[in-house]
Amino acid sequence: MSVYTKKNVASLIGEVGNYFRFLAEAGCQGFDCSAQSLEILKSWGHEGAGNRGQGAGNRLQVTGNLVPCDLQPVTCRPLPPAPCNLLTSVRAELGNCRRCPLSQNRLHLVFGEGNPQAKLVFVGDKPGIEEDRSGKPFLGEPGQLLTKIIEAGMKLSRNQVYICDAVKCRPPGDRNPKSDEINACLPFFNQQMAAIKPDFICVLGETAAQILLKTDLPISQLRGQFYDYMGIKLMPTFHPADLLRYPEKKRAVWEDVKKILRIEN
Ligand code: SF4
Repeated sequence: MSVYTKKNVASLIGEVGNYFRFLAEAGCQGFDCSAQSLEILKSWGHEGAGNRGQGAGNRLQVTGNLVPCDLQPVTCRPLPPAPCNLLTSVRAELGNCRRCPLSQNRLHLVFGEGNPQAKLVFVGDKPGIEEDRSGKPFLGEPGQLLTKIIEAGMKLSRNQVYICDAVKCRPPGDRNPKSDEINACLPFFNQQMAAIKPDFICVLGETAAQILLKTDLPISQLRGQFYDYMGIKLMPTFHPADLLRYPEKKRAVWEDVKKILRIEN
């Protein structure tokens, strides 16, 4: 049975305070407690596959003030001339790509899938084991959660959006892509965007956001605002795999997604 002493109540209040500071650092400016938002968050599920307890100590630590972000919020400029107008041409140009060492261990190059004229593109960093086996992006539990965000949250279908990764082949052991691999592959991602010409890119996770924005800043500082990427509005947010480990981050993702929906409508 719990015993509420002055000491542990003070400790609890301190932890709650730390958590609010963590949320503020992550860009949270308030809580949308409307019935609709609560229903949508509920539909994304409550429990993750991972251990919710893991890393809790780290999450609650406040490491200091936000580092000022010198990245510019979105200002649109015209798209550069597209080297290929059609997505199929970009795929054909990639072919059985051997331009970087990631080709050595991959089973499938994961180019991307969805509407070639999508207004919204979701981008991860690189394929994982299931994607490598199948050649399709965002499968498994993170992929299912992304589908819920698209369908239950945005009221769209996966076929209406486009989903891909910045780097097209799975790195061994699911490590992060190295700079030479990124440099070899990113031109093809850029050609994909030039071919699709979406209004929005929603970048999922810290690694993908850092690759596209060429920064070392953490996702907690990058998420929640738009950046300019080839004249396309780019919104970084947490990766669905992160949401499975830390379901409390779903609210932040919903806030980011709502900003895209608000501008689009
Ligand atoms: S990661 Fe990109 S550049 Fe490297 S082999 Fe795969 S498709 Fe080619």
